[in-house]
Amino acid sequence: MGSKKHWTRRNLLGAGGTVSAALMLNPLLATAVGEAARKRQIKWANWGGNHRSQPSHIAAPQSEEEVVDFMRTLGGPVRPVGSGHSWSGLVPTDHSMLTLDRLKGVVSHDEETLQAEVWAGTKLFAYGPMMEDLGQAIVNMSDVNYQTMAGAISTSTHGTGAALGSMSSYVIGLQLVTPRGEVLELHADNEKELFNAARTGLGSLGVITRLRFQNREKHRLHQQEWLADIDEVLEDIEPLIRDNQQFELFPIPHSRRTIVVVTNEAEAGAADNIEDDPGALNDLRKVFDVTRKLPAGEDFIYNNVLDYAFGDTKHRIGPSYKVLAHPRTVRFMEMEYTVPADQGVACLREVLATIKAHAPEVSFPLEYRYIKGDDTMIGMFSERDGCAISVHQFADEPRWRDYFALVEPVFHKYQGRPHWGKWHSLRDKDLAVLYPRWEEFKQIRRELDPEGRMLNPYLREIFGEP
Ligand SMILES: Cc1cc2nc3c(=O)[nH]c(=O)nc-3n(C[C@H](O)[C@H](O)[C@H](O)COP(=O)(O)OP(=O)(O)OC[C@H]3O[C@@H](n4cnc5c(N)ncnc54)[C@H](O)[C@@H]3O)c2cc1C
Repeated sequence: MGSKKHWTRRNLLGAGGTVSAALMLNPLLATAVGEAARKRQIKWANWGGNHRSQPSHIAAPQSEEEVVDFMRTLGGPVRPVGSGHSWSGLVPTDHSMLTLDRLKGVVSHDEETLQAEVWAGTKLFAYGPMMEDLGQAIVNMSDVNYQTMAGAISTSTHGTGAALGSMSSYVIGLQLVTPRGEVLELHADNEKELFNAARTGLGSLGVITRLRFQNREKHRLHQQEWLADIDEVLEDIEPLIRDNQQFELFPIPHSRRTIVVVTNEAEAGAADNIEDDPGALNDLRKVFDVTRKLPAGEDFIYNNVLDYAFGDTKHRIGPSYKVLAHPRTVRFMEMEYTVPADQGVACLREVLATIKAHAPEVSFPLEYRYIKGDDTMIGMFSERDGCAISVHQFADEPRWRDYFALVEPVFHKYQGRPHWGKWHSLRDKDLAVLYPRWEEFKQIRRELDPEGRMLNPYLREIFGEP
């Protein structure tokens, strides 16, 4: 290796979220309707490329009234779509797709309470600067910012921080257009249970048109990351969790190393410094491919190469929304399960041991995060503080399903709840065991949508609907 590589979170999880034009929902196509669109063969695919479908048409309403009209006048199944950044089968449909690409921006805001209402199609990458202009910032967010606000909260998208909740937990009100075309304004004092269901509703209850967030004052963060011995970190993990606003790990399979990432408020006057290194994941892959072929002592060599190439402490300083978001250029597949927070270390150790014993080809780092429990009905953190553990594989590695199937039983052993937007194999009966309010959610869903208009074949399996 010539020069030292700089590890950052974007390095680790593959920098650069280049969503190829072919895989992105084209907003121009989004206006096409009915037969004309079918003739033009609208094709939709998710970011991971593991789901493709050919919707009969895609609607892109420009107002809440148009959403209502659409739901009232157009019969048949409909799936709302955000940025297509889910690996699970929530979105694909041969029927109607509805995008809120044209419903974006700030609806209203309150300087005193630091609350803001936005149109649900607003992208997370736009939300940050918009809020900064208002003196506000989202409390916590995912490590990418390509998603729409509605898409993100519909799957309980989260970042990390034991005292911080998922993005759904910061939603304090929302506007839902039901499958019958009624408009419901939901918040904790109005239809509380429906509100808690809709804050993580998998797009199965209707179309969210507006979201009100409880933000905090705009702030700057300082993120630091370094390479450490995984056993030493796990032995004494409590201070890292307790003493940092945000803490996470990227354990590197088949090595004794993990990347440690901590994020705290930046010191006043610290200069902005946000660098990305999109190629690091591929570099890691190449190093691993060479060292694993060595006849003996490959662990020792691999650890040393990692220390040499990626060992420096890195700093990332700037506005919170810039520090927390990382580009992704390397396409990958992901499975994530959330286990009870106090079981995280044991579960991670078992996952790493399973990979070491049975998945010799895997070099992609894991991700390990803490999230505070909330009162959503079926969010992964519903009434439970969670530790989210993700495994990934390069999208060009055809056996990613075998890898995920190998690791998944470990998560089941720890009562893991699958991330709604990521790949998993669980269905209705398994989910009923993991979510105390599962049947209640299903009942609410059936009442709102007795004809099952909001369901695709995947969601029918998820909810056990014929
Ligand atoms: C590279 C990458 C990095 C990621 N990083 C993280 C991470 O750090 N943390 C994390 O928790 N997750 C992460 N995810 C997962 C991602 O945040 C979720 O899958 C999220 O739901 C995707 O949002 P989207 O806008 O792309 O929605 P889509 O994937 O298009 O849709 C997701 C769900 O939202 C519903 N939906 C969309 N719009 C509406 C609407 N207006 N009304 C009702 N329902 C609607 C859809 O029907 C669907 O059920 C990542 C995904 C990728 C590809």
